[in-house]
Amino acid sequence: MSYDVVVIGAGPGGYVCAIRAAQLGLKVAVVEKSKTFGGTCLNIGCIPSKALLYASEMFEEAAHGLGALGVVVSPPKLDLAAMMKHKADTVAANVNGVAFLFKKNKIEAFTGVGRIAAPGRVEVKDADGNATTLETKAIVIATGSDVAGLPDVEIDEKTIVSSTGALELSKTPARLLVVGAGVIGLELGSVWGRLGAQVAVVEYLDRILPGMDGEVARQFQRLLEKQGFTFHLSHKVASVEKTATGAKAVIEPVKGGEASTLEADIVLVAVGRRPYTDGLGAEAAGVALERGQVVIDAHFQTSAPGVYAIGDAVRGPMLAHKAEDEGVALAEILAGQAGHVNYEAIPAVVYTSPEVAVVGKAEEELKAAGIAYRVGKFPFTANARARAIRHTEGFVKILADAATDRVLGVHILGHGAGEMIHEAVVLMEFGGSAEDLARSTHAHPTMSEAIKEAAMAVAKRAIHI
Ligand SMILES: Cc1cc2nc3c(=O)[nH]c(=O)nc-3n(C[C@H](O)[C@H](O)[C@H](O)COP(=O)(O)OP(=O)(O)OC[C@H]3O[C@@H](n4cnc5c(N)ncnc54)[C@H](O)[C@@H]3O)c2cc1C
Repeated sequence: MSYDVVVIGAGPGGYVCAIRAAQLGLKVAVVEKSKTFGGTCLNIGCIPSKALLYASEMFEEAAHGLGALGVVVSPPKLDLAAMMKHKADTVAANVNGVAFLFKKNKIEAFTGVGRIAAPGRVEVKDADGNATTLETKAIVIATGSDVAGLPDVEIDEKTIVSSTGALELSKTPARLLVVGAGVIGLELGSVWGRLGAQVAVVEYLDRILPGMDGEVARQFQRLLEKQGFTFHLSHKVASVEKTATGAKAVIEPVKGGEASTLEADIVLVAVGRRPYTDGLGAEAAGVALERGQVVIDAHFQTSAPGVYAIGDAVRGPMLAHKAEDEGVALAEILAGQAGHVNYEAIPAVVYTSPEVAVVGKAEEELKAAGIAYRVGKFPFTANARARAIRHTEGFVKILADAATDRVLGVHILGHGAGEMIHEAVVLMEFGGSAEDLARSTHAHPTMSEAIKEAAMAVAKRAIHI
């Protein structure tokens, strides 16, 4: 069987690349080792976590939010099985959607582990050991990432879980210990915290959300503490052991000092993810790896001719939309067009309550780069819509170049931040200035007016504060 493109891995990077390549008239095959398409994101990542985040937020609202609006509900009761069914139905609808799109675009899908036998040749081995060889002009590695564990801590997905196990718990743990204060740990901690768990988080660094703007992270931490989270920052986990009732972790201050023990029913290890290339035969085929990542050039080309790579398997943020955009860009390059990804304008969202959303540079990054900037800030307490819907927590912060006024970074901590951030993304794609944003009419009353006011605040002319 002979193709123009064979994509290995049907996550957001791989399946989007395949669809775009087929749209452009190329003959495409996809190889996926799992039974369903959609990769980490659709099966055990973005989608199931967002289904549970939404459902648990509704539970929390019913318990503590609605009364203040005059909607009296008797204490809500948790039906966890029904909540999990909502999650499973959401996942099924999405993964079946990808299968439909493959058919619609005449993409041939092979179930099995793909191995690069040589440039131009992919061998697919199914669960019964049967092998099929696919000949192709181009091979796309889109094999994604896997959970990174802690040394000497065995994840059994029952008591000591990764994000995958944390999406499947059969009851709410009384005490949940989260190792790692990154996005995944805080999102899944929020889910179980809202459903009744006491959540403690251990983080090696002296702050939460490493890499994001420090001011946003500090205020976000205070809000999570108000919700009942306990943080042990600047601590490392020395050991985690299972006990008769759950597990206990010994933690130590990073800078030395006395160790302490934390007991929990469930321990969630959320210390990051690693690029996944197991069984791919990458290095044998001449594909260079660096710290596990597939090395690529600016056009997604690896060190082996005709072999390309995208998504979590390569450098850059491990985000589904980054993988998708790389998939589109690579398909266009393979079809002879000028595909391109602007890495300066990739948003990132933490889907907690409130949400955190960011695009562009943090203040710390601008300082480190010696770039002179101006800051405009506006709090949601001064926004009329936020008051009307009782979501006044958080603020918008805009960082603009001091000389040109070009927007370099936008940070939003607030309800709906993950939707609001996109006007900033589009603005930055077009190289827009804070004044452009400030002079664009925003509907009243909307939460988005806080973005306009923050843009006006860059020039010290915000109206409502
Ligand atoms: C709990 C959680 C929540 C997340 N939430 C978000 C979010 O809200 N937003 C966001 O942007 N990102 C989120 N992410 C990250 C997101 O899931 C990844 O960035 C995204 O899935 C990467 O896409 P990918 O196509 O590169 O790889 P993946 O989605 O990992 O897909 C790779 C696919 O390749 C297959 N594969 C691997 N090797 C082979 C082989 N040799 N042969 C055949 N098939 C193979 C795998 O089975 C898999 O299906 C989350 C991740 C987790 C774990």
